[in-house]
Amino acid sequence: MHALLRAYEGRAAATGGSGRDPVNLPMIRHWCEAMGDTSPVYRGPAATAPPTMLQAWTMGGLSGHPAGTGRSAAYDEMFALLDGAGCTSVVATDCEQEYLRPLRPGDRITFDTVIESVSPRKTTALGTGYFVTTRTDVHAEGELAGTHRFRILKYRPARRNRDAERKAPARPRPVVNRDNAGFWAGVAEHRLLIQRCTDCASLRFPWLPGCNTCGGAEWDTVEASGEGTVFSHVVMHHPPFPAFAPNGDGGPYAVALVELAEGVRIVSNVIGVPYDRVRVGMPVHLEFLVADPELELPVFRASESG
Ligand SMILES: [Zn+2]
Repeated sequence: MHALLRAYEGRAAATGGSGRDPVNLPMIRHWCEAMGDTSPVYRGPAATAPPTMLQAWTMGGLSGHPAGTGRSAAYDEMFALLDGAGCTSVVATDCEQEYLRPLRPGDRITFDTVIESVSPRKTTALGTGYFVTTRTDVHAEGELAGTHRFRILKYRPARRNRDAERKAPARPRPVVNRDNAGFWAGVAEHRLLIQRCTDCASLRFPWLPGCNTCGGAEWDTVEASGEGTVFSHVVMHHPPFPAFAPNGDGGPYAVALVELAEGVRIVSNVIGVPYDRVRVGMPVHLEFLVADPELELPVFRASESG
C-alpha cells in the first residue's frame, strides 16, 4: 500500500491557483484585529503583510476558486486509494510555513500545490493510516514568497469502546449564579419564572441582571402559565451527545425554541413526539423532567391536539 501511495509523491495536488485579490490593506487590518496584533509594521503606506497570513492570500473564500484550478486528478485518485483501503477519516495534524520574501499591498499571488510525501503506515490514538504532506509554493509577482506545508492523517478509525458508549453520561449541570439563582429556585418548586422589570414592566428570559428595554436593575417575577408554541427548532444528529438524547443512545433529538404564552422564548426539549415530528407552531405545554436524581429541567410536551 505504501509503495502505491509513494507513487504520488511529487505529483501536483493543485495547479494554476491565483489569489482572489492582490495583497491588500483591508485584509491585513482585519487579520491584525482578529489576532490582536497592533504592530505598526502592518499599517500605513509602507505596510507589509503579517507573514503568517501567507495562506490567507491563497484561499478561495466561500465561493471557492474558479473552475479548473482546484484539486488535481492525481490527488483525488490518491484519496480514493486511501478510502478504498478503509482509511476513510481525515484529520489535519500540522502546518509549517517558510517565509522568503515580504508580501506588500498590491502583490499579485499565484500558487501551486504538490504532494510532497506520504508516510509509511502509522498507528495513532485515532486509528491507523498515512500522513500525507502537501506543499504549496506561494509566489508574489512571480517570485517565490513562501511555502506552506500542510499535513493530514488519512486513517481507518480505531474501534470505539462500545461498552463505555452504552452507559449514557449525565447531563451537564447548569451553572447557577446570583443572576439566575431565582430561576433555578423556581424550577425546584416546579414553577417557570420569568423576570419582569419593575421600572417598565418588560418581561425577559433568560434571566439577566438588567432590563434589555430600559436598563433598569430592579425586577420581580411572573410565573409562566406553561402554555407555548414551538417558535423554531433544530434536530441534533452529529456530534452525538448521549446525555441529551431521550434514550441515552446519542441518537437524534430535537432542540426547540419555545415561545411562551407570555411572549418570551426559552430553549428546551420537546417531548412526547418523535424528533422528526416537531413542527414550528406546534402547541406545547410545560412539564418538569427528572433528568437524574440531582437534576430537574423544564421541558415541553407536545399537546394532544398538536
Ligand atoms: Zn425595564
